[in-house]
Amino acid sequence: MTTSIGSDCLLEVQDLHVEFPTRDGVVKAVDGVDFSIKHNQTVGVVGESGSGKTVTALAILQVVSQPGKISGGRVLLRQESGNAVDIASLNPRGKAIRAIRGKDISMIFQEPMTSFSMMHTIGFQIVEAIRLHQNIGNHEARSIAIDMLRRVGIARPEERVDAYAFELSGGMRQRAMIAMALVTHPRLLIADEPTTALDVTLQAQIMELIRELQRELGMSVLLITHDLGVIAENCDEVIVMYLGEVMERAGVQHLFADPLHPYTRALLRSIPRLGHGKEWELEPIEGMVPSPYNRPTGCPFHPRCPAFIPGKCDTLRPELVEVGDGRAVRCHLYSL
Ligand code: SF4
Repeated sequence: MTTSIGSDCLLEVQDLHVEFPTRDGVVKAVDGVDFSIKHNQTVGVVGESGSGKTVTALAILQVVSQPGKISGGRVLLRQESGNAVDIASLNPRGKAIRAIRGKDISMIFQEPMTSFSMMHTIGFQIVEAIRLHQNIGNHEARSIAIDMLRRVGIARPEERVDAYAFELSGGMRQRAMIAMALVTHPRLLIADEPTTALDVTLQAQIMELIRELQRELGMSVLLITHDLGVIAENCDEVIVMYLGEVMERAGVQHLFADPLHPYTRALLRSIPRLGHGKEWELEPIEGMVPSPYNRPTGCPFHPRCPAFIPGKCDTLRPELVEVGDGRAVRCHLYSL
């Protein structure tokens, strides 16, 4: 099925819902999420654990683990023909989505072992990924794999191509995973906490590598992280998520200079800032993220919100409203 998508958009997520039926009730992991990614753009998704960041990414690839399922909404991907396909309507095991995974959209994870099988060498797996989408021989695919391993900074790629993932250091495995994700030249890279497990120097190197390859390959990036520092340095736009909903959406400069949503403000107050001396006091966000089985009524952030309006915030669910400068915020303070 083809459908229309914004002229400058590569991906448009519209009113996406993902649910997990459990013995204790239905968990709404993603509850009406909307955002878009333009060509060459880097969009960051930030939020505490349980905010639905990763499930949103998995839904974009139709790889939500069972018994979870996309229960509503659309995920429109612009194809090279210019038409858009609704990924959410595709059979998760069908031919159409398999042609998109790895080719149009690749994903890298925090833990590279998630991507690699222990049964085969990394070279074998990268060659498989190439040959799945390109009609070329083993020898040529192996040369492409070695070249990509070199480009992601793996020394002696002619030897390392025959290594198993468990034989590589953490940093090398991360680079090999990036090589496998990028070797097919995807138009969208989803990077889910790609540097969280790494030391600071390696974090910076990996992010620089992703930026460099993005410039070179002209791809868009969806960067999922809980680290606002990584967002500030790498993203054009930011989506702030909480309990499966988008709380705020803004250009990165607007978001950091003038956060609107009380949750975004709380997140920013909870991280250290360079250039601020001892007078800058870190403030942990009050309370805990509520259990998904016990979702607050009204605004999901109301039990923790310093700007809580009794009788309104605890009863009425705020809509995501446009507030100018391409920004949107879900809070009654902006829809009074
Ligand atoms: Fe706070 Fe109310 Fe806004 Fe929710 S809607 S963030 S509780 S002020």
